[in-house]
Amino acid sequence: MRYEDAWRRSVDDPEGFWGEQAKLIHWETPPARILDATHPPFRRWFVGGTTNLCHNAVDRHLDTRGDQLAIVAVSTETNTTREITYRELHREVNAFAAILVSLGVGRGDRVVIYLPNIAEATFAMLACARIGAIHSVVFGGFAAHNLALRIDDAEPALLICADAGMRGGKVIPYKPLVDAALREANAAPAHVLVVDRGLDPAMERQPGRDVDYATLRERHLDTDVPVVWLESNEPSYLLYTSGTTGKPKGVQRDVGGHAVALALSMTTIFDLRPGQTILCTSDVGWAVGHSYNVYGPLIGGCTAILYEGVPTSPDPGIWWRLCETYGVRTMFSSPTAIRLLKKQDAAWLSRYDLSALEWIFLAGEPLDRPTYEWLTAGTGKTVIDNYWQTETGWPALSLMPGLDLKPVKPGSPGFPTFGYRMRVIDEATGEEKPAGEKGVLVIEPPLPPGCLTTIWRDDERYRRSYFGHFSECLYSSLDWAVRDADGYFFILGRTDDVINVAGHRLGTREIEESVASLGAVAEVAVVGIVDELKGQVPAVFATLRQGVTDDPRDVAQAMERRVVELLGSLARPACVYVVGALPKTRSGKLLRRSLQALIQGTDPGDLSTLDDPNALDEVRRAILRGPDCGARRA
Ligand code: ATP
Ligand code: MG
Repeated sequence: MRYEDAWRRSVDDPEGFWGEQAKLIHWETPPARILDATHPPFRRWFVGGTTNLCHNAVDRHLDTRGDQLAIVAVSTETNTTREITYRELHREVNAFAAILVSLGVGRGDRVVIYLPNIAEATFAMLACARIGAIHSVVFGGFAAHNLALRIDDAEPALLICADAGMRGGKVIPYKPLVDAALREANAAPAHVLVVDRGLDPAMERQPGRDVDYATLRERHLDTDVPVVWLESNEPSYLLYTSGTTGKPKGVQRDVGGHAVALALSMTTIFDLRPGQTILCTSDVGWAVGHSYNVYGPLIGGCTAILYEGVPTSPDPGIWWRLCETYGVRTMFSSPTAIRLLKKQDAAWLSRYDLSALEWIFLAGEPLDRPTYEWLTAGTGKTVIDNYWQTETGWPALSLMPGLDLKPVKPGSPGFPTFGYRMRVIDEATGEEKPAGEKGVLVIEPPLPPGCLTTIWRDDERYRRSYFGHFSECLYSSLDWAVRDADGYFFILGRTDDVINVAGHRLGTREIEESVASLGAVAEVAVVGIVDELKGQVPAVFATLRQGVTDDPRDVAQAMERRVVELLGSLARPACVYVVGALPKTRSGKLLRRSLQALIQGTDPGDLSTLDDPNALDEVRRAILRGPDCGARRA
């Protein structure tokens, strides 16, 4: 099948196309109607069909692949590896579901899951899906306040947590954070189910409220819990966006559309057939983790490697070693993670047998050319940039090696995937931009299966946040993009990441790319700062690669020269700061808005999704000290 034909059919005849794809999963009752788009911007896929995510991910494979590995949970923090077959997974998920039922959780109830990247997180998610409870995974390690906000939004019947997580060899107690969050929250659940990993011997338990997973697991180990068949459009889960641009939104996903979209993406995009293995380095707490650590691979009958640990420990070869050991065919990671590896010796990329590995997918942030080239050259593999949002739940732009692989254009995530009719339009007039011109990336409704159905209990915010930007009913991605003459899309950053210098609009990404082309630079963030004469001017924050011993002031000057050389003097950075670390969200996205606030001396706003507070302090100190090149600010 050619990509062009398949894509064309998916948008011109969505009912015909998706009606066929629906056969990729098991329906207890087949859908009565494929698409109901009578109330835009809302739409319902596979109306009247009943199915279950857990059944499709687990039970359906028992006869054919019961003894195949379903999950390999590797922790380089606790030095453990758990290999779990589909049969064992079925047993664990049933036991977990029985525990949920025994604690009074039922269909439509919310369950907040606050666990590290361990097998129990997968069990918990699938157990919720089995009984029709709506899970809301909160990234482990979010602070108590973040957790409390999400608890109050979701109003869960139960919270599931671990005693502790670990990061870089350090134990991070979770339970005290949970206790604090529950003190702060108004909608605290009656019970907390604690997965005690034995990492925090000092953990306190609240009698009556806190219950122990291991004890209950023993009790329910051989209980069979029947699958609850759900109408396709019932909610399967809630997940909050990263909060890079503001207050996180509670993305609500359905059941049937989600399952069908993931099933289709596994073969066509990720090129994985049943029995093959994927290493997705995401945390289950992110959309990528939901879709490609848990649901996608299991629905597709694959083996999913779940990884707890940092990419550089015990050494920077760890992920490649896992690829060798488990014959990984497709790897999925993020540019941020690869940039971390890029600080290390490139020799790690060629130390292991990667003959089974075919594709390295990267998503989450713009993939800069130096990182792309470093990874391609070092591994000899095809690196595929793909673009999506928590909202879409699966790639919206990608090349499709499982269908027919088009040539990779570095810096481009390629073409729209199935059901995505995309346009690049003028932000003011809403008119379509010609090839080569920058505009806002929008999606014409109906959004394909797998995308969010609404914001949890807030249809109005859904409407306003995504469809309220243009006179026409269009989903705004809030990202800048350009489509070239061959139809390839390029993402240029977020619509709030644009600098207006003397009336000229510069994307922060263009400036970042030119700075990053200097070999000494590891990571870079560019923000606009107010300038009396020009309106705005660029400020550069950069970290240097490990082992670079040059004077930061020399490198800073080289950065300035490079920007002027590549983009012209209009883009000349007003100041360059060389720092030890850059502030990021916990999902690894650069927090440009807090950098901008710091340098302008304004309120950095919602820092709840900030990963490492030290990075922010470091930037603060650098700003006080003055730039390594250019004039002092703030
Ligand atoms: P919030 O919406 O709360 O501000 P967020 O947008 O960072 O948070 P996510 O849904 O995790 O939350 O991230 C989606 C965004 O990540 C996209 O809108 C885009 O800006 C960026 N992104 C994802 N993949 C790519 C990619 N391949 N290239 C460029 N940017 C990407
Ligand atoms: Mg977003």
